[in-house]
Amino acid sequence: MKKSVLVTGGAGFIGSHTAVELIEAGYDVVIADNLSNSEAAAVEGVRKITGTNVPLEVADCCDREAMDALFRKYAFDSVIHFAASKAVGESVEKPLLYYRNNILSLVNILELMLKHGVKNIVFSSSCTVYGEPDKLPVTERTPRKKANSPYGNTKQIAEDILKDTTIAHPDALRVIALRYFNPIGAHPSALIGELPKGVPGNLVPYITQTAASLRECLSIFGGDYDTPDGSAIRDYIDVTDLAKAHVAAMSRMREGKSRSVYEIFNIGTGKGLSVLELVDKFERATGVKVPHKIVGRRAGDIEKIWADTSYANRELGWKAEKTTEETLASAWAWEKRLRSIE
Ligand code: UDP
Repeated sequence: MKKSVLVTGGAGFIGSHTAVELIEAGYDVVIADNLSNSEAAAVEGVRKITGTNVPLEVADCCDREAMDALFRKYAFDSVIHFAASKAVGESVEKPLLYYRNNILSLVNILELMLKHGVKNIVFSSSCTVYGEPDKLPVTERTPRKKANSPYGNTKQIAEDILKDTTIAHPDALRVIALRYFNPIGAHPSALIGELPKGVPGNLVPYITQTAASLRECLSIFGGDYDTPDGSAIRDYIDVTDLAKAHVAAMSRMREGKSRSVYEIFNIGTGKGLSVLELVDKFERATGVKVPHKIVGRRAGDIEKIWADTSYANRELGWKAEKTTEETLASAWAWEKRLRSIE
């Protein structure tokens, strides 16, 4: 049976790590990426790690003709759709860019899958769909809250589009939506990792850049939350562990083990950590100090969230394995390699 997977956004942070895990699990991968927020060098990293010549097709999922040509060129049997815009703040300023990139691209991919008889798709969703939950940890049955950014809204709309499409085409389509918590870290080889453009918006790249003295001081957004140390709590999941969840989801669909045509799984560690705890773990794991100060809350941030992962653990046979210290050390190894720090 052929195992050819189209990985859209495969030059990105999660996409490149997933491409590695898929190739190591025996899949033929084709990466499609418009390189708008990623580098072809990431694909070089994937090639080096896996010793393969994984193809990179520079194409935009919003370009239906270009994507149709790819579906004709390769015999895909599955898709993992990562390609999307992902900055919350930017989505508030440029909502139409987000609706175009995140919704039009998905509609194109689904239409092409139906047209070319490609059945399986894993979709990158996000814990942002839960908003500020009333009860923790969140399970897949926790009600979604109204999205507080256009970005979050695109993830909710995308989930709805996928669900409606499986209802209309139950024999032609199988979907697994993975709701990621906070992906961090880098591949243990330090050949691929996160590549933020400009000042990092996310916590861990900001920490590693501060540790590398590219930034003076980490601002901790909010010290007055209703949490044990006053800083906000998230569930930080190692990117390689997260990548492996995609392989598990892919095998589940391909082996016909899905319980329904549209399934959702939380992908996190099941453990909440505060910003201050994460900084402390980074310092312990690496022996490098991260100057930091507490500042005001960041608009749009929620106070606390972490996952109940028991459904994913049981059904996907997948579990986060790395310790947070290992993951933070991998993020630091990657930053050091980028900056040529010994
Ligand atoms: N955060 C912070 N300083 C930063 C970046 C992030 O204190 O420079 C906090 C942020 O307020 C949140 C947590 O770190 O509580 C994780 O933020 P990130 O942007 O990485 O992910 P999010 O949870 O917003 O998707």
